[in-house]
Amino acid sequence: MECTRGALSSMAQVVFKIIFTIIILGTILGLLPVESKYIEYNTSQGIVPGKINVHLVPHSHDDVGWLKTVDQYYVGANNSIRGACVQNVLDSVISALLDDKNRRFIYVEMAFFQRWWRQQSEARKIKVRQLVDSGQLEFINGGFCMHDEATPHYIDLVDQTTIGHQFIKEEFGQKPRVGWQIDPFGHSAVQAYLLGAELGFDSLFFARIDYQDRAKRKNEKTLEVVWQGSKSLGSSSQIFTGIFPRHYDPPDGFTFEINDVSPPIQDDVLLFDYNVEERINDFVAAAVAQANVTRTNHIMWLMGTDFRYQYANSWFRQMDKFIHYVNLDGRVNALYSTPSIYTNSKHAMNESWPLKTGDFFPYADRENAYWTGYFTSRPAFKGYVRMMSGYYLAARQLEFFKGRSRSGPNTDALADALAIAQHHDAVSGTERQHVAADYAMRLSIGYAEAEKVVASSLAILAESRSSTGHEDSVLKFQQCPLLNVSYCPPTEAALPDGKSLVVVVYNPLGWKREEAIRIPVSTGGLIVLDSAGREIESQILPLTNSSLSIRYGHVKAYLGRSPAGTIKYWLAFSVSVPPLGFSTYFVSSAKRTGSSTISKVYTSEGRIDSVVEVGQGNLKLVYNANNGKLTRYINTRSLVTASAEQSYSYYSGYNGTDKDSQASGAYIFRPNGTFPIKPEGQASLTVMRGPLMDEVHQQLTPWIYQVTRVFKGKEHAEIEFNIGPIPVDDGVGKEITTQITTAMMTNKTFYTDSNGRDFIKRVRDYREDWDLQVNQPVAGNYYPINLGIYITDESRELSVLVDRAVGGSSLVDGQIELMLHRRLLHDDSRGVGEALNEEVCVLDECKGLVIQGKFYIRIDPLGDGAKWRRTFGQEIYSPLLLAFTEQDGNNWTNSHISTFSGVDPSYSLPNNIAVITLQELENGRVLLRLAHLYETAEDKDYSEMTSVDLKKLFPTKKIHKVTEMSLSANQGRAEMEAKRLVWKVGGTSEETKVSRGGPVDPVKLVVELAPMEIRTLLIDFDYLKMFGS
Ligand SMILES: [Zn+2]
Repeated sequence: MECTRGALSSMAQVVFKIIFTIIILGTILGLLPVESKYIEYNTSQGIVPGKINVHLVPHSHDDVGWLKTVDQYYVGANNSIRGACVQNVLDSVISALLDDKNRRFIYVEMAFFQRWWRQQSEARKIKVRQLVDSGQLEFINGGFCMHDEATPHYIDLVDQTTIGHQFIKEEFGQKPRVGWQIDPFGHSAVQAYLLGAELGFDSLFFARIDYQDRAKRKNEKTLEVVWQGSKSLGSSSQIFTGIFPRHYDPPDGFTFEINDVSPPIQDDVLLFDYNVEERINDFVAAAVAQANVTRTNHIMWLMGTDFRYQYANSWFRQMDKFIHYVNLDGRVNALYSTPSIYTNSKHAMNESWPLKTGDFFPYADRENAYWTGYFTSRPAFKGYVRMMSGYYLAARQLEFFKGRSRSGPNTDALADALAIAQHHDAVSGTERQHVAADYAMRLSIGYAEAEKVVASSLAILAESRSSTGHEDSVLKFQQCPLLNVSYCPPTEAALPDGKSLVVVVYNPLGWKREEAIRIPVSTGGLIVLDSAGREIESQILPLTNSSLSIRYGHVKAYLGRSPAGTIKYWLAFSVSVPPLGFSTYFVSSAKRTGSSTISKVYTSEGRIDSVVEVGQGNLKLVYNANNGKLTRYINTRSLVTASAEQSYSYYSGYNGTDKDSQASGAYIFRPNGTFPIKPEGQASLTVMRGPLMDEVHQQLTPWIYQVTRVFKGKEHAEIEFNIGPIPVDDGVGKEITTQITTAMMTNKTFYTDSNGRDFIKRVRDYREDWDLQVNQPVAGNYYPINLGIYITDESRELSVLVDRAVGGSSLVDGQIELMLHRRLLHDDSRGVGEALNEEVCVLDECKGLVIQGKFYIRIDPLGDGAKWRRTFGQEIYSPLLLAFTEQDGNNWTNSHISTFSGVDPSYSLPNNIAVITLQELENGRVLLRLAHLYETAEDKDYSEMTSVDLKKLFPTKKIHKVTEMSLSANQGRAEMEAKRLVWKVGGTSEETKVSRGGPVDPVKLVVELAPMEIRTLLIDFDYLKMFGS
């Protein structure tokens, strides 16, 4: 159904021209009575088959924080930075929609809409609901924000979307059906299938893809595709995807905010510069140009851009006229539309669409401008978001076990803060400094409240044998969010005779965990007892001067005071914690011999032997004592051995002031040379050995300190890095990387995760969709990493897992590189207008930001790596949660529950399943999400259909009803499937059979999960059983 492009000089056009000519000539010559009066514009036009249909989609792109904070944007504060006020947008759009029932508008960011909605009168709300019901105002995307796609974890994406969708459902009874990710800087596979198809979306739209990719797609008319984001779920989770031919703004000459320069239609014959015909010609020309790169005769114009419609009439007035006159002209058809109407129109054409697999990373908007810097920008904030994400998951579980309270603290503020933090200028690190501080403050306020929920839940669970909902617990549990920098007041306090420190360890995962935990203490000579009163092995590790100075600096910076106590040691001990439950441990001063083992400390300086081997269990790491370098990796169980090195280097950031103006900055990674970071002076190793773990401490430079840990019971190495302040006295910004280097032959190939979920194959200097012209061999090979990255050869695989979003690559065969920190001195000209030069100030003294983080390394026989990546990856996301109190005198175990598990004692979740949501909703129903952690064919044992027994997951409750929902729980899954549009895919696709779990039998209550499947269930429990005697 090709359109009427060939018949543009139709009769209609000729007649139209003649009429205009007569009017103008007549007016000038005084032949016709000059009349200017009210013109009733006909804006009611729908779709006209056979013509180019120009769908005018009025929209405003409202960033949930960027140059200003979310609240500043909302109220229009701080307008010297940017004149933007979302209240103005919503107020004026609603009035404009009420003025003409044919006008339409879409709204996207619920963080803003919710702020506006709660301040509206009941009368106004009724009118707005009518606008929504009639389709004039449509919510699309509908999450709390338009999230980033490179740096968030998929659990955060699900949570933030759920908050927005629940709001829309509760207030308007609507379910968004279009994904609208117009601004994020590259697009993830998880977005397409999980945050698209699994939400029930019929389409997904965005603007930013690689400039080379876009050029080819325009040429081949493949800007619109059917995207299968998941290898495992394939066609069962595909989505129609539209990429805009240019940005998310209108064609040139059609922008109408009050200060915009596009010529308005001047159709008053009494005024000068009458221009209707000229403007209609402009419109038709722009429409034809776009139709020339688009399949079918439907094209979409994005009528708006950032923070537009602050005076909505200035847009709607022009669009009314364009629709009226363009349709009088008749060459093309113009209509008020929305992306949903556009999607339906595309679907109705019954066209076949090209298939897209994989993702749209990395993104470059032109040569030498790869947006791969933001994968790492603001690493401390990225780490904080991830830490809060895991905490939020655990806190909701504990809130559920206790019973959600109607009054008192809850997890809602943390939920809100986390949702806002997923915005594409938040966790991405591309916001101004004061805005980053605002996001962090919101998280910290949310954390403080969630911490109270956790403390009271643990107290109630520890004090009574039945969940009675009483909240007058006497137990006061403390937690230590600064434990990573060895600051924890309750564990540092001296333990007087007869008192012991009670450590409750909560495990948010559905399987039993055994690992070593550590707490800072002020004395040695301690013993640790388990829940049953048995003494367990423990290890004392002296705190190094570097650790003490990190502790001092961070406590001073974040709490505004010096740490009170003097601590000397870490006390480490092994804990064993049941699924979704806790164990209790007791630390006291040893009254007898047999206390914790003090680690033996060696330094390599002055040693004679040239080799240092660490590791008490299966994993051994071998170091060269002379230069302090890691040389070998040996696993005595799996018999894997490999030469292995680990090093640091930096890229100097391009300053953008030379012949080429593109600097390295918050968004863009533009290296100008790479330099190894060599240890200054004699490289020394400090090795601590003990029964539970060995540690290798290395001060590599005055600003890089790292500790490598090998745990007796684990087969991976943990590397904790402290980096900063990055020196910039030489006037050069620097981007700090680490390399893990082996001799593996990896054939340019590596694998990185998509938002912590599916792994995607990457090939250096290659793109599946087009012939890549390589002009940035480093930046153009960087990919976002949220879970990990791995490489394989014919017998082994090397995996590196991370604790937050970072950028990474494999730039050399056998090597993995991670970018850990960046400090840059120039803005990269993408709008933020600030250099990414993070500093921390204590009183008047400001220094470059110091970050601490971890990554984890393991080498497995080929085919065995997925087990560790998936299981341990989940453990990184959901660390054990520690809470502390003191025991006074009498025996704790007589009066308290010392071990608890939310699941049946005989049960634990299968190793390939995680509970990613367990939450009691306000209406008392319980939201449960179960996720299969493996892809099809990823692992020989775990890439299988697996079941979860709900009766055993909730042994103390009687399940009344289970309803399977869409991913955001805003509609039944069956309802969602029934509505889903089916798209034709062109070409041959040899798809392997996709499997999905069957319906949940209401009697058996067993949930099946196929590889990569996430199932969202609403559970009604039987009230009587829950609260019965
Ligand atoms: Zn934006």
